[in-house]
Amino acid sequence: DPALTLRQVTHVYVNDKGASLAVEDLNLTVQRGEFVSLVGPSGCGKTTVLSMLAGLFLPTRGEVLLNNRQVKQPSTLVGYMLQQDYLFPWRTILDNAALGLELTGSKTRAAVEKAADLLAELGLPGSGARYPHELSGGMRQRVALARTLATEPEVLLLDEPFSALDLHIKLQLEDLVKETLRRLGKTALLVTHDLSEAVAMSDRVIVLAANPGRIRCELTIPDSIR
Ligand code: ADP
Ligand code: ADP
Repeated sequence: DPALTLRQVTHVYVNDKGASLAVEDLNLTVQRGEFVSLVGPSGCGKTTVLSMLAGLFLPTRGEVLLNNRQVKQPSTLVGYMLQQDYLFPWRTILDNAALGLELTGSKTRAAVEKAADLLAELGLPGSGARYPHELSGGMRQRVALARTLATEPEVLLLDEPFSALDLHIKLQLEDLVKETLRRLGKTALLVTHDLSEAVAMSDRVIVLAANPGRIRCELTIPDSIR
C-alpha cells in the first residue's frame, strides 16, 4: 500500500526564456512508513519531484499520488523540511514551533503546549522563550522539525535539510531525524547529494542520473549497516 507514487511523470518548466525539461518519465513508489532517499547531481530534478508531491504544482504529464489519490494542492498530510529553517526572527522558538498548528486552525494554547512537548522531545527543553538568533544552526533545524511534526503530517519531504550544517552537527541531526521519524512511523522522502547521508538514513536509496533525472540504480540498505 504505497504512500507516494509517481507514475510516468514528466515536468517541463516554461518561462520567458523557454522550456526546460526537469523530470522525464519518472516512476517511483514509497511505501507507508518507508524512508527513501533520492540522490543525484544538481539539476537532476530532485526538488521538482518534492514540489509536485507537496502539491505546489501539477506535473506536465503523468500522475503524482498521495495515498493513491492525485495531489492537487498542498495539504497538511505532507510536511516539508528545507535547507533553510525559515524561522521568523521576531517570534520566540516556542511560537515558531507552534506556527504551523496555529495556521491550520488550532487554538493558540493547545498549539503552544504541543510545540513545547515536541521541542523537549527533540532535545530543546526550556529554550522556547529564546529567539532564533540565539540558537545554533543545528538547534534551529530542530525547531523547524518540531514545527513540521506539530501538524502531524503522514509524509515528510526533506530537501537537503542538513547541508548547511557542520559535519559533527549534521551527523547528530541525521540520527535524531532518522530515529524520530521511525518512532513516529512517518513516511519520508529525503533529497540529498550526499550518498553516505542517504545510506545512513534510508531503507532505500534511489540514484538519479543528470538532467533530466532518470533512475540510474536503486539500493536497498540492510539494517546492519544503518
Ligand atoms: P535538483 O533539485 O536536482 O537540483 P531541480 O528540480 O531544482 O533539480 O531542477 C531540475 C531542472 O529544472 C534544472 O535544469 C533546473 O535548472 C530547472 N528548473 C528548476 N526550477 C525551475 C524553474 N522555476 N524555472 C525553470 N527551470 C527550472
Ligand atoms: P474531490 O472529490 O473534490 O476531488 P478531494 O479528493 O480533493 O475531493 O478530497 C476529498 C477529501 O479527501 C478531502 O477531505 C481531503 O482532505 C481528502 N484527501 C484528498 N487527498 C487525499 C490524500 N491524498 N490522502 C488522504 N486524504 C486525502
